[in-house]
Amino acid sequence: MIVGVLVEITSKSVDKIFDYLVPKELERKVEVGKRVEVPFGNRTLVGFILEIKKDSDVSTLKEITKVLDEEVILTKELLELGKYLKKTTLASLISCYQVMFPKGYKASIKNKVNKKYRKVYYLNDYNKKLTSKQQEVVDLFKDKEKLTKDELTNVSTSILNTLVKNNILRQSEEEVYRLDYEKNERKIRKLTPLQENAVNNILTTDNTVSLLYGVTGSGKTEVYMELIDKYLKKGLKSIVLVPEISLTPQLIKRFEERFEGNIALLHSALSDGEKYDEYRRIVKDEVDIVIGARSAVFAPLNNLGLIIIDECHSDSYKQDNNPRYNAKDVAIKRAKELGAKVVLGSATPMLEEYARGLKNVFNLVTLDKRVNGKELPKVELIDMNKEIAKSKGHFSLPLIDKIKETIERGEQVILLLNRRGYSSFVTCSNCGESVKCPNCDITLTYHKSSNILRCHYCGYATKYEITCPKCHEKSLKDLGVGTEKIEEELKEILPNVKVLRMDVDTTSKKGAHKKIVDTFARGDADILLGTQMVAKGLDFSNVTLVGVINADTSLMLPDFRSSEKTFDLLNQVAGRAGRGEKAGLVVFQTFNPDNYAINYAKDNDYESFYKEEMKTRKLMKYPPYYYLVSLNISSKDSKLALVEAKKCEKLCLKYLDKTVILGPSPASIFKKQNIYYYQLILKYQYQDNIYEVLEKLVEYYATINKVNLDVDFNPIHL
Ligand code: ADP
Ligand code: ZN
Repeated sequence: MIVGVLVEITSKSVDKIFDYLVPKELERKVEVGKRVEVPFGNRTLVGFILEIKKDSDVSTLKEITKVLDEEVILTKELLELGKYLKKTTLASLISCYQVMFPKGYKASIKNKVNKKYRKVYYLNDYNKKLTSKQQEVVDLFKDKEKLTKDELTNVSTSILNTLVKNNILRQSEEEVYRLDYEKNERKIRKLTPLQENAVNNILTTDNTVSLLYGVTGSGKTEVYMELIDKYLKKGLKSIVLVPEISLTPQLIKRFEERFEGNIALLHSALSDGEKYDEYRRIVKDEVDIVIGARSAVFAPLNNLGLIIIDECHSDSYKQDNNPRYNAKDVAIKRAKELGAKVVLGSATPMLEEYARGLKNVFNLVTLDKRVNGKELPKVELIDMNKEIAKSKGHFSLPLIDKIKETIERGEQVILLLNRRGYSSFVTCSNCGESVKCPNCDITLTYHKSSNILRCHYCGYATKYEITCPKCHEKSLKDLGVGTEKIEEELKEILPNVKVLRMDVDTTSKKGAHKKIVDTFARGDADILLGTQMVAKGLDFSNVTLVGVINADTSLMLPDFRSSEKTFDLLNQVAGRAGRGEKAGLVVFQTFNPDNYAINYAKDNDYESFYKEEMKTRKLMKYPPYYYLVSLNISSKDSKLALVEAKKCEKLCLKYLDKTVILGPSPASIFKKQNIYYYQLILKYQYQDNIYEVLEKLVEYYATINKVNLDVDFNPIHL
């Protein structure tokens, strides 16, 4: 017996199937889709069995040494899906398979994530005379099939050992899962007629994809849960994708209230062991629902009927390293193969998605009202050009007044510091120098609590000194604004107010984010202040004021989606206000009170924003009118990178006749970890051979040592 094995090395030149002999004693265990250990050169590697055959073209074959899996992990469906991923991202086949699995399931000789076991004890039949101490222990087993070691903590180990030795107790091991669930009260809400309609519409459409376009607070989550329930009753399972699951504890809680114990969670905040266990529950067919971030789209549920993608406009569904897939495309591909359905949900769909909805490529389902007729909050603009002189720090007087009034009424406030395209950096007030990372071409971010300057790309860190590295004057100052600074200002303006801060720094520890959310939900703080994190998914009924400190900073991003991103963020954060019985108010502080994105966000007018923005996209040849591909050519040698980038340009010009080619130009971050990046941008409407041509280019660069070519189809950022 011979097997074709795809080994774990991601190098392009190794990305092919190697044949191995199967020793007689392993033949019984071998199956396509299991992992095996194989000799490779003078190493031992792990790979996936992709085929079983009788003959090989290679005359001297080595033998596989071990079969690692009891069950097939790369199912037939995933096997095919990997090929599709390779075709559409041009990444290596092995990387397309590896990305589907959590660490403990990847092909890798290094990572050893193992099952966790615990000791359990069973009572045997016996007819010995027991000591009174022993009898006490045996009595504990009354009405119990077994007891775990934890349940026997009060019993001394020596007694247990004696009982085992005398065959009165039998000790054994059983697998335990590392993740614990909070027990919740089971809750089911009756749907409103509008929600009911949406559910029926989605259940009956012939279209694979439904776009659930529903304003913030319109009850999309309830619609998802009802759909999942309906599918469950048909024996079909569901995947729910959320942008960053560790940041959505409230959503998870609602799911657990309804589908207690029937959910596996897959997200980055879990330990490798926990992820492994959650994945095992899926593989062992113990759950019907998977909730997770991007890569959960690959969850190998059998009888998969429904894939829900919440906040479908989120960038997080696109992976920004190889394979650069978009979970939405994968979901649609899987659904089409399986005859399943996809639901994309958002209050602010991506322009691409809404355009497809309007053209009936997607089934467009609208929820245009909040649940139970609650009003969307009123939004006021504060023109900071007029207010800045009178402001206290970053707070205009009208915003301060509104915060005070809200808190005096016993209600709560959410404040957003829009940090997209804006960060806290130090600049020399003498020579104007700002301190940059020596490895990457970006300014370092100032972390006040640790007094450190840090690079957000490579992690480089250095102590903050006030002496400028260039002119040596003692005049380096913190000119940007971070949440810490805003918090300080708030404390000065409103000394008796309790503020919770939510940003990368305060949420880095496990469970920290949930703790902040819980504290605020209990009413143990007046203000929740934070970065974009406070804009997403939170549902606090007592929040009646939302303030945006700086609505316009994200407009400055050098990206064609900057208006859309600004609109999304403002709309999302505004949607946090007035979700309970009391009406909500939203305040945007802005230096651009005439900007269309800000004004349409103020009026909560997605359709008008969509129309206006589509005009620009058409004019500028951007999506959804044109497809984009970004080619990134990089090298440690900056001259070589440019030479090769120009070569790429020539080849594209030659073979892609219907494509607009921009560049090469230095990438928006020219230097990252001492590597230089050039970028070509391709725009096209119809270019049938694009994958073929780019695949040839990728294959060519795979053979070249000092240069790397990275292709990104439908990039999220340019
Ligand atoms: P969205 O996801 O569209 O922003 P949610 O699903 O979070 O909206 O719903 C908003 C609020 O309304 C939540 O507090 C939710 O519990 C409540 N809600 C949703 N649907 C119903 C319903 N049918 N009956 C009662 N309350 C509901
Ligand atoms: Zn760096």
